[in-house]
Amino acid sequence: MLVVSKFGGTSMGDAAAMKKSAEVCLEHHSSVVVVSATSGTTDRLIEIAKAASKGELELCDTIIFNLKERHTSLLKQVAPMSEEAASLLQQNFTELDLLVQNLTLLKELTPRAYDHMLSLGERISSLIFREVLRKEAPHKEIVLLDARSVLKTDSHFGQAAPLIDLMASECKNKMTITENKIYVTQGFIGSDIQGNTTILGRGGSDYSAALFAEALDATCLEIWTDVPGIATTDPRICKEAKIIPELAYQEAGEMAQYGAKILHPATISPAVRKSIPVFVGSTFAKDEPGTWIRRTVEFRPPVRAITKRSAQGLVTVTTPNMYNASGFMGSIFDIFAKHRVSVDCVTTSEISVAITVDHATLENIKFIEDLKKVGNLEIEKGFSLISLIGNELYRRSNLAKTIFGTMDEAKIRMMSLGASPYNFNFLVKEDEANICIQKLHQTLIEAIR
Ligand code: ADP
Ligand code: ASP
Ligand code: MG
Repeated sequence: MLVVSKFGGTSMGDAAAMKKSAEVCLEHHSSVVVVSATSGTTDRLIEIAKAASKGELELCDTIIFNLKERHTSLLKQVAPMSEEAASLLQQNFTELDLLVQNLTLLKELTPRAYDHMLSLGERISSLIFREVLRKEAPHKEIVLLDARSVLKTDSHFGQAAPLIDLMASECKNKMTITENKIYVTQGFIGSDIQGNTTILGRGGSDYSAALFAEALDATCLEIWTDVPGIATTDPRICKEAKIIPELAYQEAGEMAQYGAKILHPATISPAVRKSIPVFVGSTFAKDEPGTWIRRTVEFRPPVRAITKRSAQGLVTVTTPNMYNASGFMGSIFDIFAKHRVSVDCVTTSEISVAITVDHATLENIKFIEDLKKVGNLEIEKGFSLISLIGNELYRRSNLAKTIFGTMDEAKIRMMSLGASPYNFNFLVKEDEANICIQKLHQTLIEAIR
């Protein structure tokens, strides 16, 4: 048995949460523990990076002071006597100071520096969490593993892609799994062939854990977070949301892709490749049944869940040349692939293609410039993409009628049904999204429970 367990930011949030996380590790016989930065820390590091590159030293100092206070006091609570941990913590903050000095001097934030800066959150939380595990399991060997020594990626900073075979051989060379040993390592971070630090994209710790599970042929991947499993919709949007006991890989993959923040979109692929079952549960309610994600599940309802992706833009590319012209779509999708932008929801007419993208992607000037070369560009902002996730959705009679009927006056700007049997997407104004989800949840999920 080889269990890889991942703990999110809230599970690392304070000394009590860390203790609970350690209890879960021991109860579940985890061999590899992948941790996120403490809650909010990655956001703070982004603020520091931006402020430093604008030369706003005072703002940087304030945020760094608070981060240092928080983590020093956390370490003092969990391991007041560990000089080794105190010195490692100090080294990380010295590195942060150095990075800030460089950025303020150069007034430029390179993608490489950005990734390096963001890696500090996970590096700090992992060294503190190792001390908690040491205390809770004095009979075990607790090894702090630098994820960058094994999780090898390409050099696409900000959203690096893992080099799966290389990672597998690095893990086999550098890790020996025994019953008496627990590896504590960082989620979210890796390094390229040259040794530069890279990150896998926001929320990437889930993906890291899945990659470790794949590389080590784990028997189970556990994602421990702040909700007791994957629910029929985000419980923050709809309090009637219910935990789903069992999900198929496809369903969970679609949910993650279409905005269920509980899983990073790429988490499921490594598990699928090695048929590793995935468990999702809450560190704070560890005895609840949680959600199991497997290849096959007994019950596959037509509508399983509703997800939301916020801050969506709609990019419409129009060309008069599309009549009888081949290659127009291909050139657009090539641009998306070149810039690693996923095509989530797309509709086409004879002369135009409309594709949803995250607002953040619209800030990528090179991406926009490339699209402009293909046709006229219209950009609209302020939408949410709502997705119904289920099974054989296009066979469900009256689904569109039910959706339109339920949502009354909310305007659907665009919709897409039929390409995948697992989802039905539509774009609505951001401020109408939550109410739409609540109504749809009532009609399509609660009413037929
Ligand atoms: P972590 O830091 O542990 O990775 P995240 O904040 O990334 O935690 O993900 C957990 C959050 O995902 C929950 O607090 C919840 O608000 C949100 N979420 C979104 N959709 C769902 C869903 N369908 N089921 C459960 N949680 C969801
Ligand atoms: N700390 C990283 C983030 O906030 C990765 C993660 O938590 O999964 O995006
Ligand atoms: Mg997360």
